[in-house]
Amino acid sequence: MKKLVADRTSWIDASGIRKVFALAGELKDPVNFSIGQPDFDVPEPLKQEAIKAIEAGLNRYSQTVGEKELTDKIAAQMTAEFGWQNPTVLVASGVSGGLLLAFLALINPGDEVIIPDPYFVIYKHVVNMLGGKCVFVDSYPDFRLPVDKIADAITEKTKLIILNSPSNPTGMVYSPAEVEALAKVAAEKDVLVLTDEIYELFSYDGPATSIAKYYDNVLVMRGFSKSYAMTGWRLAYVAAPASLRPVIEEMIKIQQYTFVCAPTPFQRAAVAALDYDVSGLVKDYVHKRDMIFDGLKDKFELYRPQGAFYAFVKTPGGSGTEFVKRAIQNNLLVIPGNVFSEKDTHFRISFATTDEKIRQGIDILCRLA
Ligand code: PMP
Repeated sequence: MKKLVADRTSWIDASGIRKVFALAGELKDPVNFSIGQPDFDVPEPLKQEAIKAIEAGLNRYSQTVGEKELTDKIAAQMTAEFGWQNPTVLVASGVSGGLLLAFLALINPGDEVIIPDPYFVIYKHVVNMLGGKCVFVDSYPDFRLPVDKIADAITEKTKLIILNSPSNPTGMVYSPAEVEALAKVAAEKDVLVLTDEIYELFSYDGPATSIAKYYDNVLVMRGFSKSYAMTGWRLAYVAAPASLRPVIEEMIKIQQYTFVCAPTPFQRAAVAALDYDVSGLVKDYVHKRDMIFDGLKDKFELYRPQGAFYAFVKTPGGSGTEFVKRAIQNNLLVIPGNVFSEKDTHFRISFATTDEKIRQGIDILCRLA
């Protein structure tokens, strides 16, 4: 019999997280430090906007590119923030959807994509699935932006540099100086930068700096999943200066044949979300970050998270995978570092949970140290 599944399925590997959840299946009420979404719910006024949109009959396909009211509003924000005249905007089904469209539109087999390591999982697997080549640039031990190493990694085949700040899984936020230095390197070689800013609003020690402030050859991706706790609503946007309109046009074409459009009623709620202040909700996360860092810093090697809701912690010995097995035996779910890295020396904590669970998790971890 012919092999049923396509070869590309063997170029990706879902084993890391799946193994954790297989081990975790038996646990009753574990301390769950593995979840990548806020513990608060969608703010009530935004829920009401979605309900109103559904009741008003906004339940059909939207324009492929997104509802005009939403794209106009995002475009105005891009002009205000980056000075872009006539920017181009696409509403996608999550940043995950935006990433898939961008990679499909940009990557030929053999094209190189430069990715600081550790990285968000989707980048590696989707690039591999398309026959692209990930060029990982090590950012251990402090996870600062490795600008010089990125400069050295650029070749004739480089299609894209991926930036993610605030970062999943490291919790780092790159400084304006780091971001500007990377902009300079990218400009010298005229390389496109894709900046994943989904945790933009979760930046605890001052605002996160977008590379789009310094560089125009850039695709900006931002989402509603994390900022407004709408992970299930599948909404995000991709924005770029007018010069990159041809790339966005290709992405729109691909969206037409794949996702068709992002969920229509939620796009209406997203218009309201752009004006909704979540700083009070984010403030709670400053406190959670402090709890995690202060609770672990004497027993573990870790850098103080500056954004997102993750800490990337060195294991006290042995691999990340082995440590995670021990954690699970003690009713604590964390993710092994090799899910996000070519190395397996760390584990990822998500502190997007209640203060009580954070306290319990710190106690368990300190016992395991
Ligand atoms: N980028 C990063 C860095 C993320 O952590 C996530 C979610 N875990 C995504 C993109 C995708 O988010 P969504 O598809 O829900 O917008």
